[in-house]
Amino acid sequence: MTHHLHTGGCQCGAVRFRIEGKPGQSSICHCRMCQKAFGAYYAPLISTRGAQFGWTRGEPTYFQSSNHVRRGFCGNCGTPLSYEASDGIAVSAGALDEPSALPPSIQYGIEAKVPFVDHLGALPAHHTMDDIAEAPFLAEIVSNQHPDHDTETWKPVPAIGAATKEDDA
Ligand SMILES: [Zn+2]
Ligand SMILES: [Zn+2]
Repeated sequence: MTHHLHTGGCQCGAVRFRIEGKPGQSSICHCRMCQKAFGAYYAPLISTRGAQFGWTRGEPTYFQSSNHVRRGFCGNCGTPLSYEASDGIAVSAGALDEPSALPPSIQYGIEAKVPFVDHLGALPAHHTMDDIAEAPFLAEIVSNQHPDHDTETWKPVPAIGAATKEDDA
């Protein structure tokens, strides 16, 4: 039970990471920069401080969001992957293969919190398959998302509009 190994990566599978050892704090950040960087109401982040962290497939593309912080994302599919500062690297909790394994214990940036976030849990709730009769396409979905575990080999589906090696040949 004391052995910690957490893996994760982007949606297309071009970038994968691994955290060995006990990760640092699991948090959500409501700050406006995290909202933008994640395209979401808040950012869930796992600090890798105190653990061994490494990119195991590919590497992120970076945006320097301030003089102190750069944010890593998949250059192919756009999944937000990391928040990197001089005091360490935090990874996107939703990019973990098992996001429920590291529940958040603290919130940051609450001065920018979107007020309705506190009420999301009270919204009407639907299971995807509740709509199966109205949405037959659900039955024939072919996913291009990387599975929630490491893979020996994997060929990500290229981004639409992206130049590929084959195109250059
Ligand atoms: Zn990707
Ligand atoms: Zn933030």
